[in-house]
Amino acid sequence: MWEGYDEAYFQSYANVGIHQEMIKDRIRTDTYKAAIMRHQNLISGKVVMDVGCGTGILSIFCAQAGASRVYAIEASDIAMQANEIVKENDLSDRITVIHSRVEEVEIEEKVDVIISEWMGYALLYETMLPSVIYARDKWLKPGGLILPSHAMLYMAPVTNSERYHETIDFWRNVYGINMSALIPLAKQCAFEEPVTETISGENVLTWPFMVKYIDCYTVTARELESITARYKLSAIMSAPLHGFAFWFEVEFNGPITFSSNNNMGFRFQHGTDNGSNHKKRRQSDTIVLSTAPEETPTHWQQTILYFYEPIDVRQDQIIEGSITISQSKENHRFLNVHLEYSTAGRSFVKESVMR
Ligand code: SAH
Repeated sequence: MWEGYDEAYFQSYANVGIHQEMIKDRIRTDTYKAAIMRHQNLISGKVVMDVGCGTGILSIFCAQAGASRVYAIEASDIAMQANEIVKENDLSDRITVIHSRVEEVEIEEKVDVIISEWMGYALLYETMLPSVIYARDKWLKPGGLILPSHAMLYMAPVTNSERYHETIDFWRNVYGINMSALIPLAKQCAFEEPVTETISGENVLTWPFMVKYIDCYTVTARELESITARYKLSAIMSAPLHGFAFWFEVEFNGPITFSSNNNMGFRFQHGTDNGSNHKKRRQSDTIVLSTAPEETPTHWQQTILYFYEPIDVRQDQIIEGSITISQSKENHRFLNVHLEYSTAGRSFVKESVMR
């Protein structure tokens, strides 16, 4: 029933611009490359599946790391160019580009490694992770490697007066004309749905809250359909609260054996879906791709859900409520975001759709 929508989805990836944007994002591409090299011992001489290979860049990195065979699976028409690129780089003997949805692929063997760059805005937009889960359950050998291995979705209340002024207060005086009549429409147009923009650590009003922790070795498609978490956060400064920001991190850890020699098994310390656990303990040498506001910006930027009206908060004031992110019934690649927030005895609800 999703085929019609997926046509539009895969059509968007047939455009070279989107691939250039991703590849130019050095934080993204260099981190994947570093993760592949870090796990070279598990890739060299092994069989890899690249779920959604795009231009084939990650497949080529894996071949460079010594993979004996890479199945480079791509549903969009960019697969044709990926195939050319593989040929021109004399890698056709080791990389097999397959122009297909991964859900329909038939190959001769199981694979040792699955690599994929599946993360969308606010981590879950695009709903591509279920395709990786499908590939894992069907094609990954027991004990195989998945890159990335873990993903964390974060959120935090933010202040951004500059943005509010230039979008809303702008209309109060335009060449000396009072255009405030446009303000309700301006609020609706700018803030009805989440926006993708870059903020900095200074915009963040509390410690971040981890909405969801995903272990890619074990997560099911079912548990991604709807995610709910309750939060209770304390403002670290006095400022107007303008909305909430969402961002993510992914880690590139090895399969089970990796954590068992690190006495506690850090994977289990992440453990929960909720908690005030803004940053879990992580091994110092873990490779992390972070899209947090305090880090170098990536093409994912941050996803901000603005309120129509700012709320003044004081330092140490509690902001609490719940967040539900669910796949839209209209199109499973879209997300419904239901945010409840209360502070200083007032409660609000914000409903929006990322489409
Ligand atoms: N691996 C590339 C591209 C990442 S973008 C890189 O890192 O640069 C994700 C790609 O996955 C897109 O090209 C998209 O068309 C593809 N994709 C998404 N879902 C897929 C599926 N179910 N089967 C095959 N390809 C898929």
